[in-house]
Amino acid sequence: MGTERIASLHPSPAEGRYKCTQCGFELNVKKGQLVPPCPRCSAREFEESSGPPSGGSAPEGPAQCQ
Ligand SMILES: [Zn+2]
Repeated sequence: MGTERIASLHPSPAEGRYKCTQCGFELNVKKGQLVPPCPRCSAREFEESSGPPSGGSAPEGPAQCQ
């Protein structure tokens, strides 16, 4: 399934960890809690961070440097 996205200042649909789509900052949010803007980069969109613990996440290479 795809990852759930959530905009800040909206209540979280479920307790869990959300990751900033801009900088990857992870935030723990409780169910019904308003999601704050990213404390690091002020982005307002998060995605559910529920990837499997094994295998690691997406590779963070030196590419994609804007
Ligand atoms: Zn961020």
